[in-house]
Amino acid sequence: MADAGASAGPTPRLEVSLLVAGSCTGPERLTRPHARWRRVEFPALVALIRHPEAGAILFDTGYTPRFHEETRRFPASLYARLTPVTVGPEDTAAAQVAAAGIAPEEVATVVVSHLHADHVGGARDFPSARFVLGRGALEEVATAPGSRAAVRHGLLPGLLPDDMAARAVAAEDLPAARTGLPFLPRGHDLLGDGSLVAVPLTGHAPGHLGLLVRGAPREVFLVGDATWSSRGVTHGEFPHPLVRFLSADWRAYRRTTTTLHALARARPDLLIVPSHAPDLIARARSALAGTA
Ligand SMILES: [Zn+2]
Repeated sequence: MADAGASAGPTPRLEVSLLVAGSCTGPERLTRPHARWRRVEFPALVALIRHPEAGAILFDTGYTPRFHEETRRFPASLYARLTPVTVGPEDTAAAQVAAAGIAPEEVATVVVSHLHADHVGGARDFPSARFVLGRGALEEVATAPGSRAAVRHGLLPGLLPDDMAARAVAAEDLPAARTGLPFLPRGHDLLGDGSLVAVPLTGHAPGHLGLLVRGAPREVFLVGDATWSSRGVTHGEFPHPLVRFLSADWRAYRRTTTTLHALARARPDLLIVPSHAPDLIARARSALAGTA
């Protein structure tokens, strides 16, 4: 299959808004081995991308109050205890998308980095969207693990739309695309024009995906939970060794962190945005505002 992207014509002008749909708290030391054990706030990032022809596209859907309903009973209640969540009705991706003048049913595509609750919490609010997931995540949707296994994998199946499998495609089944990035040269073309390229970033969870936005005034690389702390990007720092037990593939996770760090050094102009790193989210927001 022919590569799209690098060989295609000029990419269309896209707009990117970085939204935060709720947050949780957790020990800072899990994300940075030299930090203290105090609890810090982790925002749940949602990116709203507006494409001139393809319309509104989301990367992840953040938290919604549905998280609290789904974690009332054991064993899911363990999840809520480990990562206490703050989210109000006005914080949801759907509410913020509507405030931006887009009806939730107009959202055409939702790219899901992975299936953890802070990334799929709002998935039910976008009834017309096609979902793009990594194959490993799509297999989890199709097999619908029992509640204990689900919680062990950080999943709350009740957050997923009942028809998600029918509306989902595996990123790996989309046409191949060149990213133009060093170290991560290949991905999958979302729209056929090379403007949005899904890039597998393995390790954190099955089928974990990043999304490269090439048609924005500044190139933006949304990397989900490929690294939690900004120091993964800026210093190649690994999280606390305990994170090994929260990761699908610890070796791949470390390799991905090293790759993102090398990429950041080689391409300082690229806005690399992990989902839970407030400083890199703020930096990307002001860079995007400066070029608007
Ligand atoms: Zn995650």
